[in-house]
Amino acid sequence: MTQMAEQQVAVKTLRNYVGGAWVRPETARYLDVTNPATGETMAQVPLSTGADVDRAVQAARAAFPGWRRTPPIQRARKCFDLKYLLENTKDEFALLVTRDNGKTLSDATGEVGRGIECVEVATGIPTLMQGRNLEDVSRGIDSDMIRQPIGVFTAITPFNFPFMVPLWFLPFALACGNAFVLKPSEQDPLAMDRLFELIAEIDLPPGVLNLVHGDREAVDSLLAHPGVDGVSFVGSTPVALHIYETAAKHGKRVQSLGGAKNHVVVMPDADMKMAVDGVLSSAFHGAGQRCLANSVCVAVGEVYEPLKKALVEQGGAMQVAEGTVEGAEVGPVISETACERILGAIERGLEAGGTLLLDGRGKGAEEGNFIGPTIIEAEPGSELTTEEIFGPVLTLLKARDLEHALELMNSSTKGNAASIFTTSGPAMRKFRYEAQAGMLGVNVGVAAPMAYFPFGGFKDSLFGDINAHGTDAIEFYTDKKTVITRWPQT
Ligand code: NAD
Repeated sequence: MTQMAEQQVAVKTLRNYVGGAWVRPETARYLDVTNPATGETMAQVPLSTGADVDRAVQAARAAFPGWRRTPPIQRARKCFDLKYLLENTKDEFALLVTRDNGKTLSDATGEVGRGIECVEVATGIPTLMQGRNLEDVSRGIDSDMIRQPIGVFTAITPFNFPFMVPLWFLPFALACGNAFVLKPSEQDPLAMDRLFELIAEIDLPPGVLNLVHGDREAVDSLLAHPGVDGVSFVGSTPVALHIYETAAKHGKRVQSLGGAKNHVVVMPDADMKMAVDGVLSSAFHGAGQRCLANSVCVAVGEVYEPLKKALVEQGGAMQVAEGTVEGAEVGPVISETACERILGAIERGLEAGGTLLLDGRGKGAEEGNFIGPTIIEAEPGSELTTEEIFGPVLTLLKARDLEHALELMNSSTKGNAASIFTTSGPAMRKFRYEAQAGMLGVNVGVAAPMAYFPFGGFKDSLFGDINAHGTDAIEFYTDKKTVITRWPQT
């Protein structure tokens, strides 16, 4: 461990970053931030009040007029500066994410890379933000569409990707010329605390980027604040819906990404090794706490029995351990509360007639929030097949054919991601055509779009019309203005 990383994991009282300075919020409410693998308290996070939020929004509002006039190429240079600092500290961030969130070092390293990729894409803003024009829309009349920044945006983000998800938003809002207030998850806020230490080094005008820690109170203050123009949210479906409705009621632009119940279909002609590896890593890496995790496996026809055998054998051999342990594949889940919720879902699934094929309960170190890979055979329509469990629990379903598999999959109220394992072009084509999900994998277990493609689901997995990152981010963080011009004829 580097000396710097050691300092990061020492107990620390976090502060907000407002108007270019670290400030102690006025709140008296603080929450312990613990390492999910050991229970060790690493920090205390403030749960900001409405007044703390107001201070951040006021700082952002004051910064916006100057920042919007800063040429896009100069804004891009700030993204380059941030990317440079992040590249130099990526190992430190990965370790911090592992200690704070619990995921393995290899998962955390992947996450950090994907977050930096968003900063990298935002450096292209002088090109990405260009408008378009056409001469002679009528004789002697020209039309231009220009894009302009809007004002102050906020992002409210979940615990499961504490580094990457905030970076789906922050660099794009910044590069487009807006001011920004981030409210990260109170469960693992350390990566954002460190990120803002780096942001302090890139010499932005005070108030352009702000960090406010907190829980529901801070979120509801942001949603109602007249100084906030737009809201990005990522989290569970019930909260995503609350955010969408409340932000819209207050006249804000809003994109609200919710939960998932992703299915993976395995066809009889699938490459068995690819399928087994893909299903297991999708379901169990990140301890199943990924919105792209495939938590329902639909095996088609005769592949059911051999697939079941291989998943149980290899899933049972996955190493459940603290994320820093060499070879660890499944770390702890985020909290004791999450652990109890997941154990409850397993219990109810078994009471409802599910068959336990692989039991991960009691695996891993005693003092952490560990649950090992668990596989349950269940009936379509049971809670295990419809509700997001957000833990290392895979439900196995049988389908007669692809048509039946699609029917099972598309009956879900959520539509974030889905995968198929097959060597058949026609099967893949039918799947791609008919799957009701926003992100699809073909022989890929976790269909995570790169930062220059849009990220978002269908149905109750996304409220709003615009996805995260890619060119959708430019759409979200700018207003389009169309100018029609006519001059006296010369
Ligand atoms: P969560 O909904 O509990 O919390 C997300 C954020 O909302 C946090 O910042 C939290 O402080 C805040 N919050 C929580 N309850 C609130 C309330 N009642 N009112 C206002 N704000 C509230 O989600 P989580 O447990 O942190 O994250 C896991 C969830 O996020 C899963 O459902 C997962 O599928 C989803 N997720 C979705 C995507 C996606 O792209 N669709 C990506 C990552 C995670």
